[in-house]
Amino acid sequence: MANTREFPLERTRNIGIVAHIDAGKTTTTERILYYTGKIHKIGETHEGASQMDWMAQEQERGITITSAATTAQWKNHRINIIDTPGHVDFTVEVERSLRVLDGAVVVLDAQAGVEPQTENVWRQSTTYSVPRIVFINKMDKIGADFDYSVDTIRDRLQANALPIQMPIGAEDNFEGVIDLIEMKADLYDEDELGTKWDTVDVPDEYMEEAKKRRNAMIEQLADIDDGIMEKYLEGEEISKDEIKAAIRKATLNLEAYPVLAGSAFKNKGVQMMLDAVNDFLPSPLDVKPYNATNPETGENVELTAGDDKDFAALAFKIATDPFVGRLTFIRVYSGTLESGSYVMNATKDTRERVGRLLQMHSNHRTEIPEVFSGDIAAAIGLKNTTTGDSLTSVKHPLILESMEFPDPVIQVSIEPKTKADQDKMDVALQKLAEEDPTFKAETNPETGETLIAGMGELHLDIIVDRMRREFNVEATVGAPQVAYRETFTKQASAQGKFIRQSGGKGQYGDVWVEFTPNEEGGGFEFTDDIVGGVVPREFIPAVE
Ligand code: GDP
Repeated sequence: MANTREFPLERTRNIGIVAHIDAGKTTTTERILYYTGKIHKIGETHEGASQMDWMAQEQERGITITSAATTAQWKNHRINIIDTPGHVDFTVEVERSLRVLDGAVVVLDAQAGVEPQTENVWRQSTTYSVPRIVFINKMDKIGADFDYSVDTIRDRLQANALPIQMPIGAEDNFEGVIDLIEMKADLYDEDELGTKWDTVDVPDEYMEEAKKRRNAMIEQLADIDDGIMEKYLEGEEISKDEIKAAIRKATLNLEAYPVLAGSAFKNKGVQMMLDAVNDFLPSPLDVKPYNATNPETGENVELTAGDDKDFAALAFKIATDPFVGRLTFIRVYSGTLESGSYVMNATKDTRERVGRLLQMHSNHRTEIPEVFSGDIAAAIGLKNTTTGDSLTSVKHPLILESMEFPDPVIQVSIEPKTKADQDKMDVALQKLAEEDPTFKAETNPETGETLIAGMGELHLDIIVDRMRREFNVEATVGAPQVAYRETFTKQASAQGKFIRQSGGKGQYGDVWVEFTPNEEGGGFEFTDDIVGGVVPREFIPAVE
């Protein structure tokens, strides 16, 4: 029995929302879920329970660390939002999300522009060839400056920022945005808290400026699009559809990054940003083929989207759900799969049965009979599958190019508060390590003590916290020590730059190092012995 898909592939978007911490990723996500009709009450992100922040620690700490996928709908499109964390300790989580999403919305703070973590995420997105649009958020904030923020994209990210909107006013006077393609203005009704807006002709006082900016946008497009260039040189009329098509093409080719303005907090501009997700970000059909290997022949296979092909999916996140237990989030690259059927875990060479399939919405979940090519869903019943495993049809096993997980950078000893809890702690650690490929637990063969290792102090704090909450094991940890010294040496000798620095110490990549400023040439030299270790807490979030 074949089920029919709700949305065709070309109207599916798998996106992530990425940002430097505090730029407004959570608020923006929450507004998206509101406008896509799934949340009916706008709550304050850090006061109430935010929809994307599942776990208790996240709410306490006000950061998002899991990578759940939430399904929403906007104007006849399905948008799957893959949550990405904003914290430096979890860059690996960002990387993991980037592996399975097709496009991203980069949220900037309109006053700060590009920030250190934006640079990190941008770099990672480029590595995975993820097309992006940029949402310059917080246009209502004191000091908000759209043009400055656009400049930071150009200067700090060396990226071809393509403003397709012009904000009307800023700070307290931020009233709406002008769509430079349509040459229409969206003006928000302040009394209706942004839930109502009017689309009107560009007001006279902004007309001249809007025309100038529209022309700049077309010139920028002409530089990368021959068709537009020809018409531009001939002085011919370029239609709105042609402009849109050229923007879409340039965005998919990573030749341009459309920039939009808004204020998630004041509910302004989010709907237009969703339109831009539909208009400019890729569908699963637009992304380049995914590499896979046939484990029997060693032959390379290029996976492309399509329901009529063999099933192939990647398990990208294991989570424990309080109601249904172990959830395996999968991204389907090709083919379809019905619940109740068997799949091949080609990575582990075992057959597994998918009992049920769930689609996660912001505040409810639906059981679905089948997943289709391009979908993201959660599977129940997979017992041996861990993050990064390939799940394929039983007849045609394939190993999909997986994710790379860095070695842990910090290690501590851990011991249960009550000796009797040792077994319980061992079980908990094993489960947590299955969920999180960057977390390791081992026994020191000489001393017999248990050691845990992860990506930073906060990462291990969260592990210990989860042990207490989810497994009822109280544990104490020893002082942090550098786990794998050679990692630092390697990273330090690689090309790169300081993300933050202060008084001879700085964050270099993901590690914390001491260095000596190099007086002649600017730049720096590392001190002989790189101290390594985690970024001290007082530097999180970033202080420059
Ligand atoms: P995240 O860390 O990127 O997820 O950022 P949050 O969404 O948690 O937002 C951080 C802070 O900025 C919160 O206090 C928000 O209320 C605030 N914020 C988010 N969006 C806006 C906005 O558009 N304007 C203003 N003024 N503040 C905002």
